[in-house]
Amino acid sequence: MKINILTLFPELFSAFKSQSIIGRAVKNNLIEINIINIRDFCFDKHQQADDTPFGGEGGMVMKPEPLFRALENCGGKVIYTSPQGVKFDQQLALKLKEEEEITIIAGHYEGIDERVVENKVDMEISIGDFVLTGGELPSMVMVDAIARLIPGVITQASYENDSFFNGLLDYPQYTRPAEYMGLKVPDVLISGNHKKIRDWRMKESLKRTYLRRPDLLKDREFSKEEKKFMKEILEELMEGEK
Ligand code: SAM
Repeated sequence: MKINILTLFPELFSAFKSQSIIGRAVKNNLIEINIINIRDFCFDKHQQADDTPFGGEGGMVMKPEPLFRALENCGGKVIYTSPQGVKFDQQLALKLKEEEEITIIAGHYEGIDERVVENKVDMEISIGDFVLTGGELPSMVMVDAIARLIPGVITQASYENDSFFNGLLDYPQYTRPAEYMGLKVPDVLISGNHKKIRDWRMKESLKRTYLRRPDLLKDREFSKEEKKFMKEILEELMEGEK
């Protein structure tokens, strides 16, 4: 998958592109991250990429010409990172990972000239109901979430158990040592009984989701097994309240 990112601050992506799991995916040619400096498409003497907004008020707006020019060299769906866009989530990450190429515009200041949005942008995406100084972090958030779903970047088993993949939150995770300063991991996890471990994980997943994100369970079609665990969970919780 090829991902083009248009930004005024290309240096912000250096570590992101070269380190950890994303760095390895780039090195192994599983993803291509193409950072495009918008300023390279500003042809005036001062390479001015922003200007004051028509109609007054403070702040600066990113000029249309450099963005139109930069986009001429980019393919795929054009995404503008914007607090006004649809909210990014795991479902959208799964959908976007199917694309061969995408282009992300990282805005700054008051945002980009609306003519770019109206004529060039296919999708505006927000990473949450808050306002950041720029679209560089949202771009990295999206690319990270998409990249880890691309075959070979991490193992399928790793992401299939993650929160949201199957509509539930992940179960609690533990690692060695089995006991630290008197704090023990649940016995079942060191029992070697795979069926019991699987059941424990499924039940913990359901319990966490019920307690922390009941909205995720609203339209869920529970399997027979899940219904059984949910019944046990509700009974245990009621017992705890007595
Ligand atoms: N004036 C804009 C508004 O109120 O909708 C906010 C501009 S913001 C200060 C500058 C840039 O940061 C935006 O153009 C966008 O690219 C990015 N940005 C800020 N918050 C974001 C969010 N929650 N999700 C995605 N991008 C965001």
